[in-house]
Amino acid sequence: MKLLVSTSLPTRWGPTLISAFGEKETEVCPYLVLQFGEIDLSHPVLVRVHSECFTGDVFGSRKCECGDQLDLSCRQLAEEGGILIYARQEGRGIGLVNKLKAYRLQDQGMDTAQANTELGFPVEMRTYEKVAFILDHFGIKDIRLMTNNPEKIKALKDSGFNIVERIPVQAESCTFNVEYLKTKRDVMGHLLDLEE
Ligand SMILES: [Zn+2]
Repeated sequence: MKLLVSTSLPTRWGPTLISAFGEKETEVCPYLVLQFGEIDLSHPVLVRVHSECFTGDVFGSRKCECGDQLDLSCRQLAEEGGILIYARQEGRGIGLVNKLKAYRLQDQGMDTAQANTELGFPVEMRTYEKVAFILDHFGIKDIRLMTNNPEKIKALKDSGFNIVERIPVQAESCTFNVEYLKTKRDVMGHLLDLEE
C-alpha cells in the first residue's frame, strides 16, 4: 500500500485535505483519509476509522446508523482537528451485494449476525492492517478514538497504537435500526446506550 494522491477538498463540514491510499494508480477502492486542520503529533490525535457503508453513507439508509456516525464524527473533527480514515470494508468485509442479500434475509426475520452466518460468512471480517499503515504514514501513535466498538480498540492496541481515550459516536436510534443496534450491542459487544 502507498499514498497515491493528496489534494484539498472543501466539504460540508469544512476544508479538508483528502488522501487516497492503495496498491496502484488505477485502484478502484482506495482507502481515503480526510484530514481536518494540521495534525499536532505532540498531543493525542482525534481519529475516526469509518468502515464504508454505501447505503448508509451515501443514501442515508435507516437500517443502520453509519451515515449519522459519519456526519457526527466529521462535525467533531472539523471543530477539533484530526483525521477520518474511510476504510473500504463494506458490510463488515463481505461486500455490498452480500450485505444487500443479508438485508433480504433480515426482512425474513434474521438479525444481522444470523444473516451473515446464513450466507456463509463470519459476522465480522474486517481487518485493520491498512488502517495501521495509514496511521503510521501520518506518524500517529497516540489516539483519541471515536468509536463504540471494543474490537476496533483492541485491534489498534494490538497493532501498537496507544488509545488514550475513547470518544463515543452515539447516533439516534430509529424504528428501522433499533433492532440492528441492539444486535450490535448484545451480540457484537458495542458500547451503545439505547432507549428500551
Ligand atoms: Zn451502515
